Amino acid sequence: MTETDSKSRCFKLADRLEKVPPYLFQVIDDMKADAKSRGIEIVSLGIGDPDQPTPPEIVEELYKQAQINEMQKYPAYRGTDEMRQALTDFYQRRFGVQLNPQTEALTLIGSKEGIANLALAVLNPNDVVIVPDPSYPVYAMNAVFTGSEKYSAPLLRENDFLIDFGAIPDEIAERAKLLWMNYPNNPTSAVAPIEFFNEAVQWAKKYGVIIAHDNPYSEIYQSDEPPPSLLNAEGARDVGIEFNTLSKTYNMTGWRIGMVVGNQDIVQALGRVKSNIDSGVFLPIQKAAIRALNMPSDSVVELRKKYIERRIAVEEVLESAGYDVYHGKGTFYVWVRTPQGKKSFDFVGEVINETGVVIGPGSGWGKSGEGFFRVCLTREPDVLRKYLQVIVEKFPAN
Ligand SMILES: *Cc1c(COP(=O)(O)O)cnc(C)c1O
Repeated sequence: MTETDSKSRCFKLADRLEKVPPYLFQVIDDMKADAKSRGIEIVSLGIGDPDQPTPPEIVEELYKQAQINEMQKYPAYRGTDEMRQALTDFYQRRFGVQLNPQTEALTLIGSKEGIANLALAVLNPNDVVIVPDPSYPVYAMNAVFTGSEKYSAPLLRENDFLIDFGAIPDEIAERAKLLWMNYPNNPTSAVAPIEFFNEAVQWAKKYGVIIAHDNPYSEIYQSDEPPPSLLNAEGARDVGIEFNTLSKTYNMTGWRIGMVVGNQDIVQALGRVKSNIDSGVFLPIQKAAIRALNMPSDSVVELRKKYIERRIAVEEVLESAGYDVYHGKGTFYVWVRTPQGKKSFDFVGEVINETGVVIGPGSGWGKSGEGFFRVCLTREPDVLRKYLQVIVEKFPAN
């Protein structure tokens, strides 16, 4: 008998796991569970999951297709030809951007999957990845999973939450390999003008940096003018790709289907990674997504109207109580300064404890989110008014 047979040793998990924080909403779930155990009724305005149903014709398409034997087999990992055609047709119709469906588009298992896997396609250890702060937590995980270095680019109110390229030090820019951007922006609701994307592309070309633009809210805007795609910027396709998804546009968060389009070398590199990790999206879901993308836009127009009404309702309640609200024009979030200069997590904890209402702590999306909170417009206006009224009564602005 050897030493190891007689004495059992403890296994060890990967070191990188120590750098993976619990997912933001896990922390909030724990706060909720605690309040619930004390008999408090919980109402969530915290997590960004649409309340409205997937339009019925999309669901029907899934039913129909799921019964066909050929549809039950392994799909092609890149997405079917028909699916990639539907994606590029959408980009043509919506943005006037013409893409080659064979080389410049890929189907994803939700955009989150592609956002995470992109790291394996473009980052080496010790490269720098520039991540906006605050931002969707998955971008920062790129650095953790590849041993690269994260540089946080603060999104500040005085810059309308746009990245300030002039503030990125030259030595960081020289080492940077990848830049993440997201407009309409989660969590701040800021929208970027085309001039900003033009500037971003020029900056990226100067330093040889890849731009990954995450655009899940491209259709969720509250302005008269639809926000642009990164691919509308001059020369964007030389350096950039864009992630998009059906999740928010068609209330399909649970379906897991998204897309990446743009620079063919980067898109193909991500495809190569994926072909060794997953086997694509269930074919009936691709069929349903094709149906969604080719539908008349009525459902999306209605959805936009709802979010406009809801944003107005939230802004009214908060502002008449003296809260400092950022007037964003996109996404279904409202970004607000905490009352009395409270720390984000303190305020969110107190609100859950005293009212049962769950809101998002700004600092959960990054240091520069400290002192803000996020409200989701995923409830009807009356419900939003009622619960925000409860909050402002308990927590005066000053
Ligand atoms: C919702 C969201 C996503 C994820 O979209 P899926 O396609 O459902 O994975 C990605 N980025 C941001 C900023 C989001 O808010």
